[in-house]
Amino acid sequence: LAPDYVRAIAPYQPGKPIGELAREMGLAEASIVKLASNENPLGLPPKARAALEAAVADLARYPDGNGFALKDRIAERFAVGHDTIVLGNGSNDILELVARTFLQAGDSAVYSEYAFAVYPLAIQSVGAERIEVKAREYGHDLDAMLAAIRPDTKLVFVANPNNPTGTLLKPGALLEFLEQVPERVLVVLDEAYTEYLPSEVASDSIGWLTRFPNLIVSRTFSKAYGLAGLRVGFALAHREVAGLVNRLRQPFNVNSLAQAAAAAALDDTDFLARSVALNRQGMAQLTGAFQRLGLPYIPSWGNFVTFHVADAKALNAHLLRNGVIVRPLAPYNMPNSLRVSIGLPEENARFIEVLEAALG
Ligand code: PMP
Repeated sequence: LAPDYVRAIAPYQPGKPIGELAREMGLAEASIVKLASNENPLGLPPKARAALEAAVADLARYPDGNGFALKDRIAERFAVGHDTIVLGNGSNDILELVARTFLQAGDSAVYSEYAFAVYPLAIQSVGAERIEVKAREYGHDLDAMLAAIRPDTKLVFVANPNNPTGTLLKPGALLEFLEQVPERVLVVLDEAYTEYLPSEVASDSIGWLTRFPNLIVSRTFSKAYGLAGLRVGFALAHREVAGLVNRLRQPFNVNSLAQAAAAAALDDTDFLARSVALNRQGMAQLTGAFQRLGLPYIPSWGNFVTFHVADAKALNAHLLRNGVIVRPLAPYNMPNSLRVSIGLPEENARFIEVLEAALG
């Protein structure tokens, strides 16, 4: 019924929905703590809420197919031109659009072991070949990725910080990598978690765009900006590259509510600062508990931490029975690792309490 390369795709496994667990376990939805999808525990930015209320009045109309107002805000914030921007229905849409634009059967694309699961999906969805490069200490091995580039390679995906491992590539290492990638190969630098980085380790990736016409920087409103449910992301690239991707983009891929909320979220610098501060606090709370309990974890630069246990399947079942949803990493070939997103202090505390009881 479908080409072999479609049948070969392992389906993406999202975090278990609260409603489903509530029904399975006979728990009240309000008692469930979901720390499974790297969402912002503070909820919507207040400015986005106000923008959404205003945008509801216009829902009988189509969205602006070019996303003019949102692009204007992005252009101003990042000092780029409108024609360098691609808007996506979440950054997943961007990743898939980039694959559809630049890859076809007979091509290949490079990504790292333990990198974000959507890269292999996007590559396979167009019948191209996946080149998965072994990770180094759970992070991207840039030298090995460089060496893996073949004449038929058109794309390289780099996640920085990476999900689910939280590893970070420092600006110097990334820059050296970009300098060595052949210009005919596009590099997708996925920076979904970049807002959480302290300035000392953050790359000037957007500044690099003028130097590297083969660089595509991908960002999202789903994490620090708190709009995961609305689905908005964007890419910045050389105008020729952005123009090609925009040819394949569906004109109304980002709906009106999402456009309005994202534009307002960019202006809500107070919310962003609170999100980042809360994340720093929560990270200390979780890693402090892992240390106390003697559980190894991967130091993370995102809004989540991956930790290792003797039997992740059993621990996950225990957490679920007690109304705590985290992400099993078996689909990432890390069968004894779980990833927990950073929540509100009381949500983190609940996770720690149930974890501690399980380890007993
Ligand atoms: N890239 C990375 C590294 C991610 O972790 C995620 C979210 N899990 C995404 C992209 C996609 O996020 P969204 O589609 O919500 O923008």
